[in-house]
Formats: sequence, C-alpha cells, structure tokens
Amino acid sequence: MDKYLVLGNPIGHSLSPSIHKMFAQQTNVQMIYDKQLVPLDEFNNCVDEFVEKGVKGFNVTLPFKGEAFAKTASVDGNAAVSMAVNTIKVDEESKLRGFNTDGIGLVRDLIDRLGLILPNSRILVLGAGGAARGIIGSLLGNLPSRIVIANRTVAKAEKLVSLFRDSNQRVPLGWTNLKSLNDDFDLIINTTSVGLEGKFDLIDEQVVRNKICYDLSYGVNAVFVSWARNCGASKATDGLGMLVEQAAESFFIWHGIRPKTQHVFDLLRSSH
Ligand code: NAP
Repeated sequence: MDKYLVLGNPIGHSLSPSIHKMFAQQTNVQMIYDKQLVPLDEFNNCVDEFVEKGVKGFNVTLPFKGEAFAKTASVDGNAAVSMAVNTIKVDEESKLRGFNTDGIGLVRDLIDRLGLILPNSRILVLGAGGAARGIIGSLLGNLPSRIVIANRTVAKAEKLVSLFRDSNQRVPLGWTNLKSLNDDFDLIINTTSVGLEGKFDLIDEQVVRNKICYDLSYGVNAVFVSWARNCGASKATDGLGMLVEQAAESFFIWHGIRPKTQHVFDLLRSSH
C-alpha cells in the first residue's frame, strides 16, 4: 500500500493523519498515512531515507517548510513565490515535486465555509513568518483593496512585502509595526505563533472591534480568537477549516481526487 508521511518537529499533536485517513475512507483510496518526528538537523536525510523506502508523498510542517522548498526539484507557483513547501509528491523517477497548499486552504475556508467576500476588502495580516509567506499570494489573487502586514520584527514584514510586491501590482501591499495600527480593516488574520505562549496582547483592542478575525492557529492555541471576541470582533474563527482545506488540496495533488471536507471538519470540530 502507498505510504505518506507528515514531517515536523514537534509533530505529536498533528491532526493530518486523522484528516487523510478520513479522506481515504471517503474516496476508497488505499494508503497509509503516518506522522514522523524529524530531528531539527535531519530533514534532508530523513526525506532521502523515506523516499528510498518507497514513500510516495509528504506533508511538511513547522519548522521545515523552507528546507522542503530547497529540497524539491520543482515547485508550483504558490511554493515558488512563498519559498515554502508543505506538500511533496514523489514522482515515478523518485524526483520530489513541491507545492504549497496553505494559501488555497485559507482562501477556501474564508470563502466557502465562512462566506466572506475578499475582493475590495481591506486585510490586515499579523505576523511575517512562514505561514504568512504561504498565504499572501493567494490573498492577493482574490483582489482585496489592500493588504497590510504587521509584525513584531518590522524588517521581516518589509522583506515579505518586497517578495510579493511585484506578483500582483493591482493590490497595494504595505507593512507596519504592531503598535501603530488603525481600525481601517475589514478582515484581520493572525499568523503569529503567540498562541503557543498562551496569551494574545500584540495589538490594541480597537483594531479588531466590529471586525472579522481569523486565527491560523486552532483549538487551544487559538488565543487570538478568544481575545478578539472579548474585544468585540463581529466574528472570530480559528484555522481548523484551513487545516482541513489545505489537506484536501494535498490529497488532490497525490491522488487526483478532491475529497469532500465539511463532514471531516464537523467531526474534528466536535473534539477541537
Ligand atoms: P514562524 O515562521 O515561526 O513565524 C512566527 C511569527 O509569529 C513571526 O511573525 C513572529 O514574529 C511572530 N511571533 C512569535 N512570537 C511572538 C511574540 N511573542 N510576539 C510577537 N510576535 C511573535 O511560524 P509560522 O510557520 O508562520 O506559523 C505560525 C502559526 O500558524 C503556527 O501557530 C502554525 O501552527 C499556524 N499555521 C496554521 C496552519 C493551518 O492550516 N491552520 C497552516 C500553517 C501555519 P517575529 O518575526 O518578530 O519573530
């Protein structure tokens, strides 16, 4: 049976095996999908070893998406512009093809599940790490009226803007620091990893009041969601839907079948 792995560090709480097993059952695809903890300096060796053993594909999560980009022989447009890979397909000649499905996953969740209208909306992205890099291209592709990236380390936000500025010149893209934000946005997307530290205090309350807020983190780590609700956000949602949607896109890349996602999302929501 074909085998697939999600690689990360840490990896213990990954929901990807459960999601892909549900997709496989639903679509009658025969496969094995496991999680694999990779030591921090062992990503390349690990991938080589598993490819040799016949593994057909990988999902890649923190902190290896940049290394996965460097490792793959060819990449799709989303991976190329974000320089990050979260899905690897091993082809017939054992060559690695890289993809980034994070942005597609986020946009599908925003539009299809939450019913948001992205064209002409004003979007604030908090954070400028790997996750932000993975989603900016897809957000730009939906023609918001502008995107502003705010980050603790301002130089990283500035770098991200320079990376994407030429990819869609119709959408103004800017950067700022977290403390000089106004409330001039429709949608605020948190891509920082502060949830892992237990509390959210990065921006002023008035920035999110009456706004739609989305946290890429999910479950107990989505501290931005509870904070934004307390501050009067009109809607605040975690990134569980994005996780399911990006997995569905990976599944499609590997198996050529697009699984239905709502039932899988509902099952996971009942326990996370
Ligand atoms: P990353 O590359 O390590 O970036 C972390 C970001 O958080 C940086 O912008 C960093 O700011 C900021 N940050 C961290 N601690 C901070 C603090 N104490 N105060 C202010 N800013 C802080 O991580 P990533 O890959 O972007 O992942 C971020 C989150 O997205 C993770 O929680 C991950 O689980 C989630 N994610 C979810 C999905 C999904 O499918 N739902 C997909 C991808 C990622 P500096 O630049 O200043 O350090």
